Amino acid sequence: AAPGASPLLQQLNDEQRAAVTLPPEHALILAGAGSGKTRVLTTRIAWLLASGQVTPGGVLAVTFTNKAAKEMMTRLGAMLPVNVRGMWIGTFHGLCNRFLRAHFRLANLPQAFQILDTQDQLSAIKRLVKQHNVDEERFPPKELQWYIAGCKEEGMRPKDVPARSEDDRRKVELYQLYEEQCQREGVVDFGELMLRSYELLRDHEPVREHYRRRFRHILIDEFQDTNKLQYAWIKMFAGEQNAVFAVGDDDQSIYAFRGARVGNMADFVREFSVRRQIKLEQNYRSFSNILDSANTLISHNKHRLGKDLRTDQGPGEPVRVYEAPTDLAEAQWVVEEIRHLVRGEGTAGGVPRHEIAILYRNNAQSRVLETALFNVGVPYRVYGGLRFFERAEIKHALAYLRLLENPRDDTSFLRVVNFPPRGIGARSLEQLQDAARAAGCSLHDAVSATTGKAGANLGGFVARIDVLREQTEGLTLREIIQLMLEQSGLLEHYRAERDGADRVENLEELVNAAESFVTQEGFGRDAVALPVDELGPQTLTQSPASQGLDPRQPVLDEPAPDFVAPDAETGETLSPLAAFLTHAALEAGDNQAQAGQDAVQLMTVHAAKGLEFDCVFVTGLEEGLFPSERSMSDRDGVEEERRLMYVAITRARKRLYLSHSQARMLHGQTRYNVRSRFFDELPEHTLKWLTPQGRAGARSAFGFGSGYPTTRQPAFQREADAPWNAPVPPRKTQPEHGLRAGMKVFHTKFGEGKVQTLEGSGEDTRAQVNFPRHGVKWLALSVAKLVPVE
Ligand code: ATP
Ligand code: MG
Repeated sequence: AAPGASPLLQQLNDEQRAAVTLPPEHALILAGAGSGKTRVLTTRIAWLLASGQVTPGGVLAVTFTNKAAKEMMTRLGAMLPVNVRGMWIGTFHGLCNRFLRAHFRLANLPQAFQILDTQDQLSAIKRLVKQHNVDEERFPPKELQWYIAGCKEEGMRPKDVPARSEDDRRKVELYQLYEEQCQREGVVDFGELMLRSYELLRDHEPVREHYRRRFRHILIDEFQDTNKLQYAWIKMFAGEQNAVFAVGDDDQSIYAFRGARVGNMADFVREFSVRRQIKLEQNYRSFSNILDSANTLISHNKHRLGKDLRTDQGPGEPVRVYEAPTDLAEAQWVVEEIRHLVRGEGTAGGVPRHEIAILYRNNAQSRVLETALFNVGVPYRVYGGLRFFERAEIKHALAYLRLLENPRDDTSFLRVVNFPPRGIGARSLEQLQDAARAAGCSLHDAVSATTGKAGANLGGFVARIDVLREQTEGLTLREIIQLMLEQSGLLEHYRAERDGADRVENLEELVNAAESFVTQEGFGRDAVALPVDELGPQTLTQSPASQGLDPRQPVLDEPAPDFVAPDAETGETLSPLAAFLTHAALEAGDNQAQAGQDAVQLMTVHAAKGLEFDCVFVTGLEEGLFPSERSMSDRDGVEEERRLMYVAITRARKRLYLSHSQARMLHGQTRYNVRSRFFDELPEHTLKWLTPQGRAGARSAFGFGSGYPTTRQPAFQREADAPWNAPVPPRKTQPEHGLRAGMKVFHTKFGEGKVQTLEGSGEDTRAQVNFPRHGVKWLALSVAKLVPVE
């Protein structure tokens, strides 16, 4: 290798170095959590560049989140004097967006096409369903949404979908109508980004050949969670001659419910005749108590490719386990513990807040935790959940902006035509929609044909938008947004609202978000494909120095490729506004307002994949929650939950907390949950129980013939003000029925079934049981006699 490349390799162990320096052919790096897969992938890119085997333009790298992509670029930028901005590093969606922007004509899209997020998609489907008088009971919009997304993930257009029944045919028809609607309005959903770029490559040989000649190295992180279409997409870019470097961990495959195929790993090895497979077995992230816990837990899964993971770090601290009486008490305990950590009590020095993560299974669980943190003034940051760009007021503002860009965007039109209210009723809108349908035009265009008072109001709205469009010409993004906020009446509306202060603040934050988008991201090049990219670095408007590079260092970049992508010839680029709207749709949405602070990190386990923190809390470890209720009816479901738990545990470097609560308020109902089966799958020696209720005692409660107390317990009362640190009495409510989730039972009427969840205690105990022949039933145990079998 070139001399410049060797320092890069010093930070690696032998296996990692072998992986990084593999010859340019297909390779699979299969390794457990924290073994340096992502580090290997990043270093390989750096090594390929530094040793002159590829230019930055020749690399295509796929990461799982935008955050990971940014991190990778930052690291590469630190390792080498290289123009990372021009590199194709991003998520599947981000890269597809970039690709489609560069070839919008071939893709049959308007250049400023808008991206529908999941919410927008649902409202588009609802609108369609209404318009076509679809029976919503029979075809719930949510299900149609899943159906359409599923078809696209399988690479199927309506004509490719097999339709066996009448219902099937209707769904295909709706899928078709949905596609036509999106096309008419110039919008694409997330699945469409993938499918359309795949089809474009498949159907246009010159484009395909261009990219195949260009991307010599294709690198994919988190390969275990790719779906069928993504796999086909990779294959399309790879062609015969390019090297695919895939890294993954089958034990961390957690998106099967969304179509991810862990089988892609085996397919990859077979179809690409992969000769190089490297395993990494040294974990650099966690102390051995944490690692042993993860290893033992995952060993309960049957379907595994199998690999070992060891660490040279000592045992470290034990894994701390806490049982709370209620979710509120659990949250208070977490917060108190965090305050100790930050102050540095019981640890060597204080832990920075951003090194503390609170993980949970569902977004809905964050609310209680947020309240507890908020009450004592601990700064926190929530990932996922209601993202900044998904808040109602922000969606309204974005809808106005989208209409400025694209008046045909009917989804946006309907969102704000009567917001703030301007006396446009549902009936007028129905008439307008009918007129638009009859004329085959957009709602915006149909307005001119309307009459009467309704017509005047609608005309006023359209005129307002059109005037605003003219006024904003030549303005900066910031000015455009400010003007829109005034002219649309949004600011005024929220200012007048009693509880509108937060919303006004968020709207102002939108201006800041736009500002930082323009300055920091230089238009957010990762979100938008500026055709300049195709023309090579000499057309970059920024000098290397302005990108934080030393101008004396050579910038590793290539001469312009000889093939100029068709749509790039004109040199057209997106307006800053269009670019910003794309960013808003694609950005994995952190709450911008809290971005700068040192804050505790809150997220679902899914969102934590690939990340690491010094201290991790995994909360809500209860049957029916984690593992989730839906997963519990089959083994594959439970195995996926166990992998999710494996991901959760392996995020921790130094300290891991696991907690569960006896009672929890979720979706407006108090539920009484048994603690998660995963506790029983962890090795005893790594655990430390913080609550008096000992492990041995708890275990015997579930074993048979261990003599349950015969006195009935009063139903558990929710104690809103239970002191967080009051010792929790030993579990009094030992189940006298001897049942637990996962157990096979017999019922005189329904026959054999499997217990899914248990709720309540004493006389109120109810069990949810899945009977193969009768479906899922809730049974009151005081009435139904369930007899365990086996
Ligand atoms: P995950 O499966 O969770 O995505 P991973 O396999 O991608 O994990 P990395 O995130 O790349 O693992 O690495 C885990 C941690 O170990 C990181 O902090 C990384 O910097 C560190 N690390 C990796 N390899 C080494 C090494 N050879 N020497 C020191 N630290 C290392
Ligand atoms: Mg990783």
